[in-house]
Amino acid sequence: MLKLHPSIDNGFPPASPDFQGGTLKCKCTTNPVTVRIDAQTAHNHACGCTKCWKPNGAIFAQIAVVSRDKVNVTSGSEKLQIIDPSATIQRYACKDCGTHMYGRIENTKHPFYGLDFVHTELSDETGWSPPQFAAFVSSVIESGVSPDRMPDIRARLTELGLPPYDCLSPALMDAIATHIAKQSGALPA
Ligand SMILES: [Zn+2]
Ligand SMILES: [Zn+2]
Repeated sequence: MLKLHPSIDNGFPPASPDFQGGTLKCKCTTNPVTVRIDAQTAHNHACGCTKCWKPNGAIFAQIAVVSRDKVNVTSGSEKLQIIDPSATIQRYACKDCGTHMYGRIENTKHPFYGLDFVHTELSDETGWSPPQFAAFVSSVIESGVSPDRMPDIRARLTELGLPPYDCLSPALMDAIATHIAKQSGALPA
């Protein structure tokens, strides 16, 4: 059986209607970094890019967004470091176990400014928004996946109900293009 991601391979439950969030915990057995998320997430998806954190052996990451004002580090903040300060998304990872705890965009002109990127699988709570699509699927080749495997990978994603895209989903690409068009004046702001 093709393994994509441990939280995706066996299917996934729907979101709980009144879900209010939970606490993400890194993989350290002592003094873990904990991050409280005080809201339901949105746009959860499988991501094939080479930047998102993936659990051991996973081909894809699972990543969602949530308003940055709902994200609070509740312990272990001294263990957090930014993977690449020059990257658009500043990914805060645990220095000891390498788990990414949240990604933040500081460029106020970016279409996704105000949204943090989080891996809800790091929480014990159930009820988070499930994945809805797969993004940057072709990019898994950049992590060393043989191109021969791509038809099977895309077929499996489709079978799981996750339409595979080689960028983001059409709705998110439309949101980005709309933002850029309003900035450039091609559309009224
Ligand atoms: Zn850790
Ligand atoms: Zn990614």
